[in-house]
Amino acid sequence: MKSLRRELLDWYRTHRRALPWRATRDPYAIWISEAMLQQTRVETAIPYYERFLERFPDIHALATSDLDDVLGVWAGLGYYSRARNLRSAAQKVVNEFDGELPDDVDSLRTLPGIGRYTAGAVASIAFDRPEPVVDGNVARVLSRLRGIRDDVKKAPTVRRLWQEAAALAKGPHPGDLNQALMELGATVCTPRAPRCLACPIARHCEAHRDGDAEALPVKSRPPPPRPVEAVVALVLRRGKALAVRRPNGLLAGLWELPGGEFSGPERPATALRRTLRERVGLIVHRPRRAGEVEHAFSHRRLRLHVYRCERPDGRLRLRDFDGHRWLAPDSLVRLPHGALMRKVLDLVLPPPR
Ligand code: SF4
Repeated sequence: MKSLRRELLDWYRTHRRALPWRATRDPYAIWISEAMLQQTRVETAIPYYERFLERFPDIHALATSDLDDVLGVWAGLGYYSRARNLRSAAQKVVNEFDGELPDDVDSLRTLPGIGRYTAGAVASIAFDRPEPVVDGNVARVLSRLRGIRDDVKKAPTVRRLWQEAAALAKGPHPGDLNQALMELGATVCTPRAPRCLACPIARHCEAHRDGDAEALPVKSRPPPPRPVEAVVALVLRRGKALAVRRPNGLLAGLWELPGGEFSGPERPATALRRTLRERVGLIVHRPRRAGEVEHAFSHRRLRLHVYRCERPDGRLRLRDFDGHRWLAPDSLVRLPHGALMRKVLDLVLPPPR
């Protein structure tokens, strides 16, 4: 175990990529980077990380921020609950921890959005606590290193991986050790064609010895994404377009055009009239079809029928939304919105001159 740790640390210190969050010891900045790196590639996260810290340089700035501002800086990064949770957690840190991010896993895990992985990453990287982390990269390295051939999605395998990671982290420099495992998974022990000849721990690796590294980790196939159909409309009244805000779910706090899902034999134009009547109280006549947008979520594949409607009747009554605005159509792009709504706006708004 000692030589394994030493080889990982030596390799990490000479081969690690120069990433902005590795140039700081500020626990707040490290926490922001870890929140962003869940579900997001390093290259994508870098400009967002820099913009976020410029706009909210410390925990007090984030705690007192406007949610729309936070979502605006986050726009395009996806999984918006991460941004909402960062802001709620910052408020909790200010109110309950004197504005200092706690340094132990148990306290960190009381904060919104901080689970086992983020707590371990912040505690070990920012505070050098001997706490393990297991993300996708670490799970791959450990299953190959230890020759774990059980499904990594099953609970007993997950337990085993965390035990292996915990044993490794119980030594000097646990923060660097954890980052070494993650870096090795990202740059050498890659899902396809791992570069075992360049690997600092090849002599300890069971999969390398057995010649089946690429077959690991074993993962059960997820079910195929479920197809879903929905309608949405740019509704115009006296030259202003209606935007509505989601109160909950993955897209909570984000703005969108009104619409909704439908299924069965209902036709899209009929579904549009029904959903607008039910969800925003408006009666639309002769909706004009603008086109279609497709979008893949992790478990769903959405086909969205997009319309333009002018001069609706009825009084606005929101159901399923917690806010609305009537805006000049070209201002819609400035509201915090997700990637799907970006595609819809690209379709229904004239291109900027
Ligand atoms: Fe991964 Fe190959 Fe290194 Fe084993 S020897 S940890 S399979 S890169």
